Amino acid sequence: TVAQRKPLIAGNWKMNLDHLQTVAFVQKLDWTLRDAKHDGAVEIAIFPPFTDLRTAQTLIDADKIPFALGAQDLSAHDSGAYTGEVSGAFLAKLACRYVIIGHSERREYHAESDEVVAGKVQAALKHGLVPVICVGETAEDLEKFGASAVPVSQLRAALADVKPDADIVVAYEPVWAIGSGQAATPQQAQDVCAALRAVIAETLGDAAASRTRILYGGSVKSGNIAGFMREPDVDGALVGGASLVVDEFAAIARYQ
Ligand code: PGA
Repeated sequence: TVAQRKPLIAGNWKMNLDHLQTVAFVQKLDWTLRDAKHDGAVEIAIFPPFTDLRTAQTLIDADKIPFALGAQDLSAHDSGAYTGEVSGAFLAKLACRYVIIGHSERREYHAESDEVVAGKVQAALKHGLVPVICVGETAEDLEKFGASAVPVSQLRAALADVKPDADIVVAYEPVWAIGSGQAATPQQAQDVCAALRAVIAETLGDAAASRTRILYGGSVKSGNIAGFMREPDVDGALVGGASLVVDEFAAIARYQ
């Protein structure tokens, strides 16, 4: 990362930890990081399931815990007859700052197309949420097209109607690296993150490109985070499995 961008370490809990477990987890994580005199140089965000958000928000608020809150998805719609959907308006009212959009698990299991992702990005921005736009190639894409072609085209589609001053985060998550224990190398991450930054420059302009944080995700753990963070175009990490273990996630957040 470079000095003008504050590193972001984001924990994507996926469908793990219920609202009771959330209380213990957030308190322990806060205690662990405070104990280490965590100085706020790194922004820490947690992305619990929807049913935990109110609990996490109440705790963060009451105990002045320095974690940002995010959701793992949102509806493209504001309100209405959309059974099972959750509006960005509701998330904003729960003090969510972020929302993950287009995670590969949603693209794959919920058939979220680039168009759906672009619509959700618009919904997030409309409600004042910062979309964490996920892009990444499968192992098959990697073999056929190389590493950056698919993430680049996914990001172009997601940014289609985004304004240059919009606050967004991009997460490069190679699908083959997610949950596999097989992380990309720092150089592989850097190469694609640089290509994604070029897409931001081309679509939103140079100021947006130098301001926007691009995260790497896929089997990030305490043992490999420092290598990623040394790369100039990697501004943080989207962490799945390792975000569910307090000591691991705390060590990732203290990578320096
Ligand atoms: P992982 O997941 O860290 O467990 O590989 C990352 C993600 O899917 O966001």
